[in-house]
Amino acid sequence: MSIEVANISKIYGSQRALNNISFKVNKPEIVGFLGPNGAGKSTMMKILTTYIEASEGQAKVNNFDVNTNQQKVQQSVGYLPEHNPLYLEQYVREYLAFNAQVYGVTKERIEEVIQLTGLTPESHKKIGQLSKGYRQRVGFANALLHNPDVLILDEPTTGLDPNQLVDIRNLIKSIGKEKTVFLSTHIMQEVEAMCDRVIIINKGEIVADKKLKELREGQEQIVVVEFDYRVEDAFLLNLPKVKQVVNTHDFIYEITFSTTEDMRSHVFDFAHDNQLKILQLNQKNMSLENLFRELTK
Ligand code: ADP
Ligand code: MG
Repeated sequence: MSIEVANISKIYGSQRALNNISFKVNKPEIVGFLGPNGAGKSTMMKILTTYIEASEGQAKVNNFDVNTNQQKVQQSVGYLPEHNPLYLEQYVREYLAFNAQVYGVTKERIEEVIQLTGLTPESHKKIGQLSKGYRQRVGFANALLHNPDVLILDEPTTGLDPNQLVDIRNLIKSIGKEKTVFLSTHIMQEVEAMCDRVIIINKGEIVADKKLKELREGQEQIVVVEFDYRVEDAFLLNLPKVKQVVNTHDFIYEITFSTTEDMRSHVFDFAHDNQLKILQLNQKNMSLENLFRELTK
């Protein structure tokens, strides 16, 4: 078992940051730990990486107990903390060499992780000279040095620009083919883009644990359409795979379809065949967004 959390609670003073949390991750997969700010994500990750101790409950990484076998746990996990503490005056290789020494890792492995994380073109620079995206890569390289089975990444894509975001997502996806990746985020789209599974946390409690595939399969889709004049709701029920039609405002309709196929072209053809003009046409992919909103209200 890669990660096993059983009835973990964490109490800070009078606040319960985690309340009786349990979940398991048992194969190489990318699991998104999704929740609003303050939900308890970083707290859970710090417990799994032995940075802090839980108040109650049990957690294991690679079958090693975080309370009784901290050294083995640390050898099993690569951790990218939320505020990646990099030393800006150090050169990339110098920074990695320091940590390599801590873990007893060879010089060849440093070069390997530099290559693996796409750092090569920037690897001669000081960390302070790197963009946020490349600094994040240094953090990844560091987390991967001792070739751990499990990677714990705390908000790895927060604060990146769109290009950096795509690069880092791809890096995480490629790492996730071989290793268990447990990554936190407060951004739902990150889960859609990278994860096989999502565990949603809110106010210190797990409120959902689902495979993305399941969410996609069970997915309903809403198309919002505005026509140039009023149409009978019943008339719109003639559209294929339509489940529900709601006239939300004047000539605006929310049409729910029970399919993942993009239905906008069907709506467009339907309008054309019936001499209707479309003033706006938008699609909403509902499942994860709805789930997240409902569960974290
Ligand atoms: P997230 O990472 O999901 O944003 P955190 O795990 O950082 O959430 O925090 C969960 C809750 O615990 C928050 O209300 C936060 O203020 C509180 N908290 C976190 N760390 C501490 C601490 N060291 N002392 C007191 N409260 C803390
Ligand atoms: Mg956090």
